Amino acid sequence: MNIVILGAGQAAASMAAKLRALGHEGAITLIGDEPIAPYQRPPLSKAYLLGEMDQDRLTLRAPEWWAENAITLRLGERATAIDRDRRMVTTTGGTLDYDALVLTLGATPRRLPAAMGGHLPGVMVVRNIADIAALRPALAPGRRLVVIGGGYIGLEAAAVARKLGLNVTLVEAAPRILGRVAAAETADMIRDLHRAHGTEIIEGTGIARITGTDAADGVDLADGRHLPADLVICGIGVAPEIALAEAAGLAIDNGIATDTQGRTADPAIWAAGDCASIPGADGRLRLESVGNAIDMAEAVAANILGAGADYAPRPWFWSDQFDAKLQIAGLNAGYDQVVTRPGAGTHSGSVWYYRDGRLIAVDALNDARAYMIGKRLIEGGKSPTPETVATAPDLKALM
Ligand code: NAP
Repeated sequence: MNIVILGAGQAAASMAAKLRALGHEGAITLIGDEPIAPYQRPPLSKAYLLGEMDQDRLTLRAPEWWAENAITLRLGERATAIDRDRRMVTTTGGTLDYDALVLTLGATPRRLPAAMGGHLPGVMVVRNIADIAALRPALAPGRRLVVIGGGYIGLEAAAVARKLGLNVTLVEAAPRILGRVAAAETADMIRDLHRAHGTEIIEGTGIARITGTDAADGVDLADGRHLPADLVICGIGVAPEIALAEAAGLAIDNGIATDTQGRTADPAIWAAGDCASIPGADGRLRLESVGNAIDMAEAVAANILGAGADYAPRPWFWSDQFDAKLQIAGLNAGYDQVVTRPGAGTHSGSVWYYRDGRLIAVDALNDARAYMIGKRLIEGGKSPTPETVATAPDLKALM
């Protein structure tokens, strides 16, 4: 069986490795539009942006590994069309046939429209190595940075810039930072952390436009204030890469729609990672995280080879901001109750999410023990009462 994987990020690399580990002996080809072999993205907004990590250490596999495993990397090449009848992909480099096709195309940062100044030089995003190559030299001490968006990208980039000595203001249009992904209690801890490091955080205020003629020189807020800036980082979310699948007539529903095994409506085409959505209890579930990119890709690899097993996500996330580590286990979707536990030091504590009386997720800031125990409880389907979590003198008692 000849397997073609479109996209050459984490999901693609995990997929290729798993296919070989499971004994697949046919051809495997990865098509990626970036000119470099698959690499880790999480450090791009953390240690790599800070300059504490070399590009070599980002790489997911040693350069010789691909040839040793007979995996063909076609890099700097973009897939432009899928012919489902002929089972053929057209790329900027030619055409190739497939028996099974996998879409691990990832997601693309949203940008502000040109009418709002989103096109101006000096407006940066954080997604690819090329984005960091453009951004890193601009992060000079004393410069003024405005970050638009208070999700993980905005907050992690803000923390790095502050560490590098920039004056940083972060603007979030929603009533608070981390609105999409975390409870107010977690947002409070993260806001305190940033303010303690001298970052200004403005919430509940949209932006009217990024100002400047030849380059960004500031941001006009919706409330009439103007923030002068030497550079602007936009971290306003990502959109799943669906265009190729849509043009090929595949179903799109919050990403490329697959069944519980990762197969699209076309039995020869599969999807995994940020671009893919699977059926979930509350509608379609699309997880934007490296953990899901790895786990779903591995599950889909097994299914391509006939395992026939449903993919059951076991979500986990982490974020490094300043010297703090936020660790998240489970998915908090639909939570109706939250309890908190203080941690051992400053900027430390955990937030436990319940839905219908069942523990579904834990956020732990500088509290690895709460994370570990919470993760084990959630994965084991165990649910101590909120009262027990809030009052137990020792977390071990929860096990
Ligand atoms: P995100 O989590 O969707 O956060 C974007 C934030 O920007 C949201 O709070 C959004 O508010 C806000 N926003 C949108 N439009 C805005 C505007 N015009 N002005 C001000 N704020 C605005 O996405 P992200 O932080 O850009 O990250 C991109 C992806 O990378 C996500 O999938 C993220 O989870 C992932 N990532 C993960 C990590 C990690 O796990 N440590 C680190 C970096 C990136 P609304 O929700 O109200 O639109």
